[in-house]
Amino acid sequence: MVIGVPTEIKTHEYRVALTPAGARTLVEDGHQVLVQAGAGLGSGIGDEEYRRVGAELVESAADVFAAELMVKVKEPLAAEYDLLRPEQILFTFLHLAPARELTQKLLEREVAGVAYETIELADGSLPLLQPMSEVAGRMAVQVGAHYLQKENGGRGVLLAGAPGVKPGKVLIVGAGTVGRNAVRIAAGMGADVRVMDVSPARLAWLDDHYGNRISTLMSNSQNIEDEILDADLFIGAVLTPGARAPRLVGRELLARMNPGSVIVDVAVDQGGCVETIRPTTHDAPVYEVDGVIHYGVANMPGAVSRTSTFALTNSTLPYLRKIADQGLAAACRKDEALRRGVNTLGGTVRNRPVAEALNLEF
Ligand code: NAD
Repeated sequence: MVIGVPTEIKTHEYRVALTPAGARTLVEDGHQVLVQAGAGLGSGIGDEEYRRVGAELVESAADVFAAELMVKVKEPLAAEYDLLRPEQILFTFLHLAPARELTQKLLEREVAGVAYETIELADGSLPLLQPMSEVAGRMAVQVGAHYLQKENGGRGVLLAGAPGVKPGKVLIVGAGTVGRNAVRIAAGMGADVRVMDVSPARLAWLDDHYGNRISTLMSNSQNIEDEILDADLFIGAVLTPGARAPRLVGRELLARMNPGSVIVDVAVDQGGCVETIRPTTHDAPVYEVDGVIHYGVANMPGAVSRTSTFALTNSTLPYLRKIADQGLAAACRKDEALRRGVNTLGGTVRNRPVAEALNLEF
């Protein structure tokens, strides 16, 4: 199969969807790999490294989008819509539930859209979301700590506190991969950590792991109201796979938080769990509503592109090889997890939560 790897064009997206080691594996498998010149530079990977393992370097996006199988990091942007073709396989993060225009384009152009984030194993885990969630969860606390500093607009709170001074309070809602990694860093910094989930099993795991160093609480409106008002840092880390994130913090609650406190809504890529959150970019990551700093960067791991590129491609490559070796239909018949990744096919929506979120036929 001809596999295309374009340069990502989303603002401050420096990751690339295939490493030279991955390109080498695909070439050894008998495939033709087209890499757009410069695609790896943001992750510190030069063109020569791809050429050396047998990939073909092409100049323009149009040249690379001629491939049958496109592997990307982020969803196509408007400038790329016209490059998509019927029956082309697009393997990337798509996040279609809050993205009506992009979904319509994939349907109109009859693209086989396979979304990293909805590939789901039998136990409900999301193997291609996991590495980026691990990175984003760890970053969320680092970013929150930065904006809590006075010169960055925050309350002037040090999460670790100081001898004789209380630590900062961090409320993390969602105890999946993002939440667990945020807990790890926040607890490591010495913050006062509260974590909520709707899953007793996830809370039990954290309780076993951290004992009395953190507090676990069931996620419900009452507990969120009780805990958020004096939180210095709120981290939104919830997910209902493929669907829009549940709205957990309304405007009225926000207005009662301390001025200069910080919200990092990592779930912003699924619409966010805070009413006032909107997607931002690394160029202008924060804005203020009712005195509370909002951070809504939808591609947080892009800022640590080198770590992220290697973490992501370690997990995507096995699926990419299956699609390339067997074709999408056969690969999906053999691999139920991959089949769940198919969001659009031949002009139809194949993922129920996406169809429901956009009110489209399933
Ligand atoms: P996950 O499935 O591992 O965890 C989600 C958790 O949310 C689960 O434990 C689930 O029980 C819990 N949950 C669901 N509804 C809840 C509710 N009402 N209250 C409390 N908890 C609830 O998912 P994840 O990998 O941790 O990802 C979380 C979100 O972060 C997703 O939207 C994901 O797309 C996003 N994400 C964003 C970035 C970014 O750069 N902004 C990067 C990676 C992941």
